[in-house]
Parts: sequence; structure tokens; C-alpha cells
Amino acid sequence: MRNGDVSYWWHVRGGFPPRRTSLPKPQEADVCIVGGGYTGLWTAYYLQGMRPDLRVVVLEAAFAGYGASGRNGGWVTSALPGSRARYARGPQGPAGVRALEAALRSTVDEIGRVCDAEGISADFVKGGRISVATSPSQLARLRAGLAHDRKWGDGEDIVKFLPRDEMRERINVAAALGGLYWPDSARIQPAALAEGLAAAAERRGADIYEATPVTAILPAKSGAAAIARTPFGDVRAKSVLRCTEGFTAGLPGSRRALLPMNSSMVVTEPLPDSAWKDIGWDGFETLGDEAHAYMYAQRTADGRIALGGRGVPYRFASGTDSFGVTSPETVAALGEVLRRMFPAAAAVGLEQAWCGVLGVPRDWCASVTYHAASGIGWAGGYTGHGVAAANLAGRTLADLVVGVSSDLTSLPWVGHHSRSWEPEPARWAGVHGLYALYRLADRLETPVPGAPGTPDAIEAASDALGDTRTGSARGAGGSARVALGEALGRVGDAISGIPH
Ligand SMILES: Cc1cc2nc3c(=O)[nH]c(=O)nc-3n(C[C@H](O)[C@H](O)[C@H](O)COP(=O)(O)OP(=O)(O)OC[C@H]3O[C@@H](n4cnc5c(N)ncnc54)[C@H](O)[C@@H]3O)c2cc1C
Repeated sequence: MRNGDVSYWWHVRGGFPPRRTSLPKPQEADVCIVGGGYTGLWTAYYLQGMRPDLRVVVLEAAFAGYGASGRNGGWVTSALPGSRARYARGPQGPAGVRALEAALRSTVDEIGRVCDAEGISADFVKGGRISVATSPSQLARLRAGLAHDRKWGDGEDIVKFLPRDEMRERINVAAALGGLYWPDSARIQPAALAEGLAAAAERRGADIYEATPVTAILPAKSGAAAIARTPFGDVRAKSVLRCTEGFTAGLPGSRRALLPMNSSMVVTEPLPDSAWKDIGWDGFETLGDEAHAYMYAQRTADGRIALGGRGVPYRFASGTDSFGVTSPETVAALGEVLRRMFPAAAAVGLEQAWCGVLGVPRDWCASVTYHAASGIGWAGGYTGHGVAAANLAGRTLADLVVGVSSDLTSLPWVGHHSRSWEPEPARWAGVHGLYALYRLADRLETPVPGAPGTPDAIEAASDALGDTRTGSARGAGGSARVALGEALGRVGDAISGIPH
């Protein structure tokens, strides 16, 4: 099994793309974008679309798509990157939250539209997203989530319950008790999107310089331009935009702005037809579960399962990985999840493992911000829901920089401020403690074979009731062990502030 090499998504494209030149000399630009991931590239793409006359320069430390944008699970999800309640504290209240959610749903189509328009073959399939419950506790959580969504006004067109049989008909996940289905979600090949987008931004006129790390971002002062400093000289621009998400802590002054949360993935060898016959997954839905330390997966265009989860959650002092190399324990744990959920894939080996960092703000709510006076802007903190969000953020940053007042610039994440993360070692201890708690909660919630509250017992109870309204684990005869697991999960949520 290959480990690292940034991601399978790059490997299957034949390796890293040909390297673009570094910044050749100090330069002047209208807009300088730091970071060549989706956020930076979409911003460049839309800016040049609106204003082809602007000189837009992208400075990328490695290569376009080196970060999370070339490593992710390929969910183009309309899921909100943050908490409704927190965004609702903004001036537009709940209406602003609904506007942001609607904008994210239409963003899924916008990404598909640009892929078509620009000839980007990114395996885009809008098959929806499923969250599956594989234990009674997960099912209870899933139902509580659905009730919460309904209170916020989400109808059946936005999210609907999948009874057990319908769930298994779509994707035969072992022990599935039910699921939720959101139609506004698509699956992509992440690196293909990053590479295609970089080329599209260049066709519109943007200059991308690679192997060009920015060492400092300095605001505009007394009429002078803002500055992005690099080992090859400064880029002076009216606007400098920080689009470095999980890598932001590496920039002076931003050390505690976004926590680089690690996420790890494995991809199987191609599954034989017999396995796909058993599993189904013909709709190419993106798939997650309701565990506290949740998993996410997709059926790839080349007949594999790519599956991810938290693994080592965080490296001390906001460290990042080396080309995605992943610990053997994490690979083993993800392999176990894969075999547990898809016994039909158990005989197939793993082809590659990798990991990457995504940006998490202290209040778990993303932000798109631009200060015209200093010329400094940024976007990120999508907490693992960044593929669609980065497109919306890029369009929004483009409007803000050009000075256009639009529906996008009044969305509640614009100008959203989150406080800084705690200094070390509190940051490391907090994140590792939280995920230890979540893993314990997941273990306790997993029914012990033969005990009351096992999926089979729950299924039997719900069949006997003649409906699929399976209640909480306790209501269905779950044990004190399960109740403790659920309580620990809630404690974790309360401590972390992770929105549900
Ligand atoms: C394993 C994994 C799975 C994920 N799965 C999903 C998913 O399925 N769906 C979803 O919605 N989200 C997912 N995410 C999150 C999503 O991928 C990110 O939120 C999104 O790609 C962020 O894009 P970005 O451009 O802001 O950051 P990145 O893609 O990380 O790009 C930042 C870029 O900035 C560059 N850079 C950093 N520092 C500097 C510097 N000083 N100077 C110059 N350049 C610099 C980096 O090299 C990098 O290329 C996942 C993330 C990971 C890691």
C-alpha cells in the first residue's frame, strides 16, 4: 500500500502536475492571492471573470491543489460550515442563515456548471449525500438532527429520512438502521477539479506562481500597497487575500486563527463486480455516518471506495503532515471501518492512504472577510465542508474586493469573527482529549452482540411496531453502557462547541 504522495487523487492522474515557475522577481498587482487551493483559485477565476483588466497573482507554496483541495473526500456538499445558531446572531438573524444555506445548495450546481463550461473532467455526479445510522444511538441522533432541520424549515425537498430498506437499497451498509438523504450534493475527483480550475483561472488571465511560499502578509499603510513577502521578493497589491485554510498558522500573526485539523483517507483497490452488486451505490451518493468521530466516503469513478476519518486529529503547535504520510494505526482503523460497513469489500486491499489539514476556527464557523482600508482579506475555516463553500467564498471575496454589493456580500459569514484558539499545550490537550472522548463514546454506543439494543433487536422492535420510528437507544432497550456513550458524546459537543 502506498502511503502519502499527497493523495490518490494526484497519483491516479499520473503524479503531481508539471510545476509552474516561482515568482521571478518582485512585482506589482491589483490583487495578490496567497494559496492555490480551491479558495484562492475560485477567487482568481471569478475576479478575472468580472474584471479581466485586473492583474491577479496567485502565490502558492507548493503547487496548486497541494493542500486539502487535492486531498479531500470529494464531497461537494451544501452542508453549512458552522452553527446555524451562531450565524443567526448576525444582523439578519435566522433569515441570513437560510440565505447562506440556499446559496450553498445552488453552489453545488455552480461547480457542475463551471466544470461543464471549462471542460473540467472532475467526475462530477450530483447523486446527493447520505448520512447513515449504524447503531440505535446514531439513529436517535439522526432523528434529532432531522427534527432540528424541520424546525429550521427544511422540507422533504432538502432532506428526507431513508427507512432502513430504502437506505440499504441505495447503499448496502452493514447494520444500517436508516439514513438521511440530501439531494443537493455531488461527488468529484478533487485533484482533477483543482488542476482544471487552476488552468481555467490562467485562461482568464491570472498568473499562478508555484514553489513560492509567502512569509508575511503586511497591510496597506498611508497610501502604500499591501504586501505579500516571499523569498523571491515582494508582491505589492491593492488587495492581498489569505487563502491558506489549514496552513494559516504558518503565517506570522495568524498562529492561533485556524486550527489545522487533520483528516485521513484510504482508497481500496478496484472492487469486483460481485462486490458492487452486493453494495449497490449506483447513485454515487456521498456517504457519511452519525458517529461522533464520523467517517466519510465516496464510490470513485474507477470503481473503488475512498473512505476518510479523523485519525490523529491534530499535531502539536499546529504542525502539518509531510506529503500526507499517515500513521499505521490510522490506516488500520480506517480499514476496520471499511470492512465493518462493507463486508463485501473486505477481501479487497487498500491501494493508498494519505492525510491533510483543514481549517477549524475556535467557534467552528467559517468566515469571508475583507478590509478595504488595509487591503487584507481572507476566507476559510470551513471545518471539513470546504469544497462547495470555497466556491461560494471565492465568489464573495471577488465581490468584496471589486466593491460590488451583492446578495453574497450580505451573507452572515461575511466579516464573521471567531476568537483565537488557546495557546499550547492547551490546544493540543483539548483536541486530543475531545477525540479520545468521542472515540470512547462511539465504542460505548456500539451495541454488544446479543445484548438488548443491538441493531437486530432494534430492527425487530421497529418491525413489530410496523414503522421505522425507532427511538433512542434506551427507549429501544439499550443498556446503561450505551446511555453513558451518548452522554459522553454530548459532553464532548458541549466542550468543543462543534455544531450539530
Ligand atoms: C482529507 C480531507 C478530506 C476532506 N474532505 C472534504 C469533503 O469531502 N468535502 C468538503 O467539503 N471538504 C472536505 N475537506 C475540506 C476541504 O478540502 C477544504 O476545506 C478546502 O479544500 C479548503 O480549500 P482552501 O483552498 O481554502 O485550502 P487548501 O486547499 O488547503 O489550499 C491552501 C493552499 O495554500 C498553500 N499555502 C499554505 N501556506 C502558504 C504560504 N505561506 N504561501 C503560499 N501558499 C501557501 C498550500 O500549499 C495550499 O495549496 C477535506 C479536507 C481534508 C484534509
